[in-house]
Amino acid sequence: MSTDRKTPLPDARRNPRFGGIATFGRWPRIEDLGSRADWGVLGVPFDGGVTYRPGARFGPRSIREQSQYLKNYSIEHGIDVPGLLALADAGDAPVLPYSVKQTLDGVIEHARSVDADRLLMLGGDHSIVYAGMTAAWERAGKPAGGLACVHFDSHMDTLDTVWGEKWNHATPFRRLIEAGVLDPKRTISVGIKGPLNTADDLDYAREQGIRLITYTDWKRSGDDALRSFIAELGDAPAYLSFDIDCVDPVFAPGTGTPSVGGFSSAEVLDLLRSLVGINLVGADIVEVLPDRDVAGNTALLAAHVAFEILALDAVRRDAAPG
Ligand code: MN
Ligand code: MN
Repeated sequence: MSTDRKTPLPDARRNPRFGGIATFGRWPRIEDLGSRADWGVLGVPFDGGVTYRPGARFGPRSIREQSQYLKNYSIEHGIDVPGLLALADAGDAPVLPYSVKQTLDGVIEHARSVDADRLLMLGGDHSIVYAGMTAAWERAGKPAGGLACVHFDSHMDTLDTVWGEKWNHATPFRRLIEAGVLDPKRTISVGIKGPLNTADDLDYAREQGIRLITYTDWKRSGDDALRSFIAELGDAPAYLSFDIDCVDPVFAPGTGTPSVGGFSSAEVLDLLRSLVGINLVGADIVEVLPDRDVAGNTALLAAHVAFEILALDAVRRDAAPG
């Protein structure tokens, strides 16, 4: 273990990356960190909320496996991420495979006991954002009006019900708005694409004031709308929710509701780097489905998305005075 960094890491020349128990990024288990973590990675192995193909319950394990080859230093930001942040693997939250709502309540309860200032949850299907954002909102002191949010996805996930059920992976952002946890007027959804089920699928989101950048918008107009949104947020506590299906299934085939023609891996990493300045209080990466992930590249991308999310907080702390 080297001691000049916030996160102690095994020496890859003595303990190779292909050996040992696969904690996320080879970081210490949270019990072994020796201090409160700046960020804890918490798996939520739950896919009881899917509308199409199940299997994302195995996402946290596959992302941990692929994260063994995650290195430390960001060339683009010029920082050593685990050097600047105390990072730990907080294991998996308890789940009840037959009940979405009881699982979400249980994850929120479990999150209260995790010894970390901020949580990055690994799904699991997108229903778990309800628990992830609620936990972040609680940690931020339950700000009135709710958290700001940057949401990457092919889908809005703001339906009211599916097959008569309110709790599933197509509805969580509506539930979060109803609960006062998410501020729709400071939310942007990036990478949305069709075809949709019906013409009115986006009406609720638009009525609530959620901003949309469809993949087509972004391709035509670039990053300006996203950059000005981030500037507008200033220091407001913000949550980042990343549904891997915003990435073209050519690059990320391991997902349950694939949507053709989205971001490349490189585009999405660039987009994440462009969010510098955001005050992140929590995040999630969801919808990784290992059984469809033939070469493991979806889970590998998810691990790198986690790195880029954490790098945003590391850059912010590195730049802070004192
Ligand atoms: Mn989603
Ligand atoms: Mn989606």
